[in-house]
Amino acid sequence: MPAPIHPDATRLLTALARGSQALMQGRFWGNGVDALLGEIGRASGASRVWIFQLLELQDEAVIQDYVFEWAAAPHYRQLTHKRFRFFSTLFDDPLYRSMVEERQRGVAQHFITERMPDGTLRENLASQRIRSMVTVPIMVDGRWWGTLGIDDCERPLDWKGAGLEALAVAAELIASAIYRHQLSSRRRQLELFQQVADCGIWEIDLHSGSTWCSRALLRTLGYPDDYACLPLRRLLVHILPTDRQRLWAQLRECRAGARKSCRLDVRLHRGGEPLRWHEIVAELALDENGQPTIISGLAIDITRRKQGEQRAMIAAEYDELTGVMNRRGLTRRTQALLNGTPSAPCHLLLLDIDNFKVINDCYGHPAGDALLKLLATQLSNELRDQDVLARVGGEEFALLVGGLDDTQVLQLGERLRASIADTPFPLQLLASDVKTRHVDITVSIGIARLPHGQDPQHAQALATAQADQALYAAKHAGRNRVLIFGRHDAPPDPQDGTGPANPSLSGPGSG
Ligand code: GH3
Ligand code: MG
Ligand code: MG
Repeated sequence: MPAPIHPDATRLLTALARGSQALMQGRFWGNGVDALLGEIGRASGASRVWIFQLLELQDEAVIQDYVFEWAAAPHYRQLTHKRFRFFSTLFDDPLYRSMVEERQRGVAQHFITERMPDGTLRENLASQRIRSMVTVPIMVDGRWWGTLGIDDCERPLDWKGAGLEALAVAAELIASAIYRHQLSSRRRQLELFQQVADCGIWEIDLHSGSTWCSRALLRTLGYPDDYACLPLRRLLVHILPTDRQRLWAQLRECRAGARKSCRLDVRLHRGGEPLRWHEIVAELALDENGQPTIISGLAIDITRRKQGEQRAMIAAEYDELTGVMNRRGLTRRTQALLNGTPSAPCHLLLLDIDNFKVINDCYGHPAGDALLKLLATQLSNELRDQDVLARVGGEEFALLVGGLDDTQVLQLGERLRASIADTPFPLQLLASDVKTRHVDITVSIGIARLPHGQDPQHAQALATAQADQALYAAKHAGRNRVLIFGRHDAPPDPQDGTGPANPSLSGPGSG
């Protein structure tokens, strides 16, 4: 039997150097692998260099695919053979089973076929006319990814020693290329995810205080994609101070172990650009001793959602016809006023158009609508910014005013009443009507003071009932007048004999 031939280790090392360069430069990692296999094949004088990728490891078989090949001559080619497409190899030879177990642990193997024990593995190699073979597992991130192998169909090549070590380096180079490829495709997926979800990713190391932000988040904050390191302090400056305090409080609770995650809406700004709402989602990571190590999470741009909520809130609190607030808006503002400045006097005025039904009957419903709009505009113009005007019924408005005493508020009501009575409201009765008619209207106003020191909801309900009672009395007193509830003055002269509903109601200037 002729002595086995050894591969030339020096040539192999040169091949590795050239192959690794190809791996670094190749635009697609597979091209680099092809080049490396070619270099190894030519340097070793082998018939074939191949890579099998592991697809599935079962109890009784292993399923692999033939994914790369270099062949010294066309007749050595096997990659395109049907039997090497997703091929399954049974563990019917104990040698093969132990070989697979060794590959899983990253152990290389080499055989000279004629020296192998009898069995299916030897038969298999012989059927492919392989005289010697070497295999090195490709371990990616610590796991058996596939196998780099060299077949020699001409020589009983002995790979033991420097040749085998050079091949182990080749497998490592291939593994790094695969790993890099996996990482960059994961990064692309992450970028895509952030783009689609309008979000950025961040991380804070709790020991060092150092931060990491994804490119998407850096871009959102106005930094270049490759910005080296954003200190925590500078990162937090982008959050509006009030939101920052709330977020910081939650993050501190996370750090102290009081909670594992938090979720908060904050406003972020960059430079002079308008604020954008972001939902911050944070999750705490613990080390093996249960100690907090990292807080990481997402910053999801929710500006559009917030704008939608804002629009919905405005729609829910404003009257569509006149543009002033509706009953819901008035309630919120009243509650806020009662909760905010408990001692300042606060009045509710209910204002109802007199005989509005007649206006509708005479001029039509659209003209009535137009009149309601004009009246709302006129009232708004007469009021201060802090006063709240709302349309609370068909032709009924409410006014919420703070900081005036009863006399002043009666004067205000009287001023409004007089100004409406003195204003001829211009109405275009038909769309085709070029002539504008002027319509005179009057209003009746009932006023009540919002009681303090009570439950705000009860206070509002009480004041509404009292203002309504005053309004009712004003109507009965002949309309076009202002009455306040609770003033024990002489009631206004009832013209229709029904008299005011409440004897303690009074008009302006009667106190
Ligand atoms: P009073 O002086 O007692 O308040 O008499 P009034 O006619 O104003 O009161 P009444 O409650 O009898 O009628 C209110 C009218 O307001 C009836 C309805 O046609 C009209 N109205 C209610 N909402 C609207 C609206 O949105 N547009 C128009 N054009 N009219 C409305
Ligand atoms: Mg009316
Ligand atoms: Mg009414």
